[in-house]
Amino acid sequence: MNKTGLSEAQIRDLLKISKGQDLKYERVLSSMCTYPHRVAVEAHMDFIESNMGDFGLFRGTYELERQVISSLGQLLNYPDAAGYMTTGATESNIQAIRSMRNVSRPASCCERPNIVVPDSAHFSFDKVSDILDIELRKASLDTNLKVSVNSVEDLIDKNTIGLVAIAGSTEFGQIDPIERLSEIALQNNIFLHVDAAFGGFVLPFLDAVYEFDFKLPGVSSIAIDPHKMGLSTIPSGVLLFRESEQLEGLKADTPYLTVSTQYTLTGTRSGASVAATWAVINYLGQEGYRKTVSKCMELTAYLLQELERIEVYPLIEPVMNVVALKVPEADLVRNRLAKEFNWQVSITQNPHCLRLVIMPHVTAEIIGSFVRDLHEVLRS
Ligand SMILES: *Cc1c(COP(=O)(O)O)cnc(C)c1O
Repeated sequence: MNKTGLSEAQIRDLLKISKGQDLKYERVLSSMCTYPHRVAVEAHMDFIESNMGDFGLFRGTYELERQVISSLGQLLNYPDAAGYMTTGATESNIQAIRSMRNVSRPASCCERPNIVVPDSAHFSFDKVSDILDIELRKASLDTNLKVSVNSVEDLIDKNTIGLVAIAGSTEFGQIDPIERLSEIALQNNIFLHVDAAFGGFVLPFLDAVYEFDFKLPGVSSIAIDPHKMGLSTIPSGVLLFRESEQLEGLKADTPYLTVSTQYTLTGTRSGASVAATWAVINYLGQEGYRKTVSKCMELTAYLLQELERIEVYPLIEPVMNVVALKVPEADLVRNRLAKEFNWQVSITQNPHCLRLVIMPHVTAEIIGSFVRDLHEVLRS
């Protein structure tokens, strides 16, 4: 640290240089994040000092959080859901599984508990397993990259405390057969957590109807991320529980704060992103999100149409605005796109495909110029 401070002008200049090194979202087709909505950014700045770790001091922000939980509970067909705002789906997933473990305490209490997750589960579940010392059993996928129900059933045993289903997998944007998993969870009397980090702000706004939320009686918790397709600021995640008992399973005493208990993983936490999320969901409403999602889906269809002309095809018909493309030597293609044309795309692991996410910052022009550059790379 400097002995004496720099001037504001120096700070601004140095920050400008760093910001100049960050990539612009206009060249990014690999991320599930995007520019936050202007209304969210304004609210975020207005509540910048608000700390939800001690929400007795920030009662107004706390009330906004209650309203966010209730609005998203309503969106996901359970207005009375309990929950809180997390830093994102990683924290939501950790806390959902921690609650399962604390609440279920199966008869076989002294053995190591396990959860069954799809092989396509986000890597946050590896962290969950490590932190909570819970065995992670990975169920195989079918040819459509949905989890195989038979494989899930085979992996359940007396130490299984819950299942995880994905509504919009990170790599393929696929939805697991959640109706069936809900039945299996009920039959086995275990929890079912739905990771809708990405899909939560997409599926309710598609023309096609998918059952993935609390409408299914076996679904006990849901992770949904406002900082992805919700257009809020980072860090904005939401964890919802069907039963308040599940939230109670996360309770810790907080002796020296204005409130005596806390359910969160983090202590000090951003009230700014609570205000941002409240602002953007209330400003856009269902109609606003429907427009955003339609635009992304139209551009996804446009992308596929343009790709067909250069004989590049998707691995599966995209369900949402996530596309995996079959190209030979995908890693090489990805590296050349980055190096020669400054495009950021990612790679799926199994099989190796180019992965694109058509977020709200993507336009038809961006797609046109991306397809031209991809064609160039594939030709030479
Ligand atoms: C993005 C994502 C996560 C992780 O969310 P963070 O907000 O990055 O912590 C978890 N699950 C799925 C399905 C995701 O797409």
